[in-house]
Amino acid sequence: MFENRKIFILGMGKSGVSVAKFLSKNNDILITDMKDNKDVSMLKNRGINVIITDKQEDLLDDTFDVVVKNPGVKLDHPVVLKASNLNIPVITELEVAYRYLPKVKIVGITGSNGKTTTTTLTYEILKRAGLSVHLAGNIGIPLCDQIDDIKDGDILVIEISSHQLANLDKFKVDIAVLTNFSEVHLDHFGTYENYKNNKLRIFKYQNEDDIAIINKSDREVYEKTLNLKSKKLYFSSKESADICIKDNYIVYSDKIKLSDIKLKGMHNYENIMASILVSMQFNVKKEYIMDVLTTFGGVSHRMEFVKNVEGRDFYNDSKATNVVSTITALKSFDSPVILILGGLDRGHSFDDLVPYLNHVKLIVCYGQTKNRIKQFAENNNIEVTVVDDVKQAARVSYEKSNKGDTILLSPACASWDQWNNFEERGDAFKSAIKNL
Ligand code: ADP
Repeated sequence: MFENRKIFILGMGKSGVSVAKFLSKNNDILITDMKDNKDVSMLKNRGINVIITDKQEDLLDDTFDVVVKNPGVKLDHPVVLKASNLNIPVITELEVAYRYLPKVKIVGITGSNGKTTTTTLTYEILKRAGLSVHLAGNIGIPLCDQIDDIKDGDILVIEISSHQLANLDKFKVDIAVLTNFSEVHLDHFGTYENYKNNKLRIFKYQNEDDIAIINKSDREVYEKTLNLKSKKLYFSSKESADICIKDNYIVYSDKIKLSDIKLKGMHNYENIMASILVSMQFNVKKEYIMDVLTTFGGVSHRMEFVKNVEGRDFYNDSKATNVVSTITALKSFDSPVILILGGLDRGHSFDDLVPYLNHVKLIVCYGQTKNRIKQFAENNNIEVTVVDDVKQAARVSYEKSNKGDTILLSPACASWDQWNNFEERGDAFKSAIKNL
């Protein structure tokens, strides 16, 4: 617990604001960011010292007891380095909240892909079963915002990003889920090996009484987790496991027909299997699991089915901000696809998409990467059309489609060239579809 401490909060994002409000009751808080935002006056009204500067390290000195950094701030940020020189601990909002929790069960979910879907599914199933459960973490809900509502015996389902894991200190997860590994966030962690080892921190404080839920068909995950102390439970879409896919069923101590599940795609069956394994630890009956699986159509902007217009299925996968996610989306369809690609240009290659484009009849591209994507499509003999943005992409795709086609926005690029975030991009796409 923090009392009468001097606390330096780096970053005025959602988690920084939440932790500042939370700790300001009993502590002396400085929060700093490079950019102003809408929360400044609210924070100042609470007596919090807010300083906007791009020289944040100049504000830190040895009178501070702790630095709470935004998870996205790089590990070599000048403030982080200075804190280390001054022997000041650097933690994140999740770690602060942890120290205030009553006796709860924590389910922590991490992995390169599928975190939000698995976290949401797990939360929905536990809630449907009537358990007292809270949703928090990287999903966009700071845990500090929820502390006052959490009581003894509750369950917390927390999405934990690699960035959050990097600065956890004492945070212990009773049930940990690791969905998969892929090469992302190397700008933050330097090497893929560092990134993977950092993900393993979710198991760090687990012992024999704790549960690790692991994707057995991801070899890197499987091998990296062989020596955990925790009790391991495996899910797999490819081979036998505690829960696995066999003959179009999810099979465990019971079985569920894949065609009864609303979410589609093997990657989603993996997310579902992980959620079922968590639910089983709380003895949730199958009827509650089925209630969710037959109705849950996915989290917004993740392979979200938007609408069928005159025989064309529109999907919004705006969250697919890298090539790996777009490959996952393409693998979910065998009908002809019109693929909408484009966005921020990070100089990344689209070549890894090639083996998955057999059923893609047209690429519609937009945004900063449009010319590179046009070239890529032409090199691979795929018809291509260049447009301005996702709204125009929706209209043009529709005009060029036939009955039975799938029109898929799965852009393989971040949204920041034209939008503030992938949610805004996906919403613009959806509203264009509604106006067709
Ligand atoms: P995260 O929170 O880890 O970013 P999401 O659940 O938001 O994951 O899904 C983001 C995208 O990642 C989805 O649109 C989908 O294309 C892909 N995806 C989801 N689950 C998986 C999975 N288990 N394996 C691989 N890709 C996945």
